[in-house]
Amino acid sequence: MGVLLLRNVSFTDGRTGLDVLAQGGRIADIGTALAAPEGAEIIEGRGCLLSPPFVDAHFHMDATLSYGLPRVNESGTLLEGIALWGELKPQLTQDALVERAMRYCDWAVAKGLLAIRSHVDVCDDRLLAVEALLHVKQRVKPYIDLQLVAFPQDGVLRSPTALGNLQRALDMGVDVVGGIPHFERTMADGAESVRLLCELAAKRGLMVDMHCDESDDPLSRHIETLAFHTQRLGLQGRVTGSHLTSMHSMDNYYVSKLIPLIAEARVNAVANPLINITLQGRHDSYPKRRGMTRVPELMAAGVNVGFGHDCVMDPWYSLGSADMLEVAHMGLHVAQMTSQSQMRSCFDAVTVNNAKVLGLTDYGIEVGRPANFVLLQARDTIEAIRLRATRLAVVRNGEVIARTPAATARIELSGRSSDIDWSL
Ligand SMILES: [Zn+2]
Repeated sequence: MGVLLLRNVSFTDGRTGLDVLAQGGRIADIGTALAAPEGAEIIEGRGCLLSPPFVDAHFHMDATLSYGLPRVNESGTLLEGIALWGELKPQLTQDALVERAMRYCDWAVAKGLLAIRSHVDVCDDRLLAVEALLHVKQRVKPYIDLQLVAFPQDGVLRSPTALGNLQRALDMGVDVVGGIPHFERTMADGAESVRLLCELAAKRGLMVDMHCDESDDPLSRHIETLAFHTQRLGLQGRVTGSHLTSMHSMDNYYVSKLIPLIAEARVNAVANPLINITLQGRHDSYPKRRGMTRVPELMAAGVNVGFGHDCVMDPWYSLGSADMLEVAHMGLHVAQMTSQSQMRSCFDAVTVNNAKVLGLTDYGIEVGRPANFVLLQARDTIEAIRLRATRLAVVRNGEVIARTPAATARIELSGRSSDIDWSL
């Protein structure tokens, strides 16, 4: 492993003018004007932001890059997306799944996204996608931490073989227990699915991450049940409620009781801004609800809130490019998190907060930790979101694994020409 010295970088906490030395795959020193060891590769940071890698707390790698197969989602709704995925599932092959996932992982590396939690559908009795993504997980291990969630897309109670398949997937090495209570046949079945899946996770010592209340139904109550079983079973800090979009539509009085229960149980919340803003509110005329969960209120109550990408070019979403800054940008707008501290929180939501959701140890730029980071063409985290900053260099275990040339533009107007500087 080589030696790498980054000169004059800024940190996400506002410190500037620092050098970072990576040696033997780990961060060996952080300071000012560090001496370059013999043979070190030197990257001039020029005041740019050095961030820990981006982390995606919610993704579907088994469906990614399948846009248009076998057809596109005409209504744009969640339910047509699920139906479309059901049409595609019997046609899936292992090779195609692996090839698409590996391509997506290349995109992720280029964007400095080096840890991903992906749900994998276990409702296909062949468990083809599980096998494919376990294979991908091993292949990308040198450069991406890929965590897998056993996700019963068709409902663990509603689909007759789902529970058995889910347990088989866990036996095969899938890391996290998933669920989808709002898709079960009744509210009571949804609550029952939360109980049995949390008990299964407690028995196996695993984390839980459920698609929870992904609807505009103000009476959907599965997050309450999830928080209840989390505290009952002592799973505090190991459980995540993904989406929680119904909270957008809930009665304010009820939410004033609910959020403290989520905080007490230390249940993580993951919003998926790009997907929530496109899939929710589809049955509204005007006014049309945004549908994203109550991010600033959850954060203010001390709940760990992450942002996920959820989908890229699949039955539910036709855009995306593994760019977590685009996710943060959308989250900031949808939640109207426009104060300086709130904008910085949106950057945390795609880095440190998501790292906490995944339970990543050794995350962050500190001496002794793995030398994993991204050099962004921006001076601070707010500018990084504003510009969806270029990833000048992506470093994993002290090695540069991706580079992108700096974004530049030159204007040529009559009488004058100049290079554009996008900073204030
Ligand atoms: Zn999802």
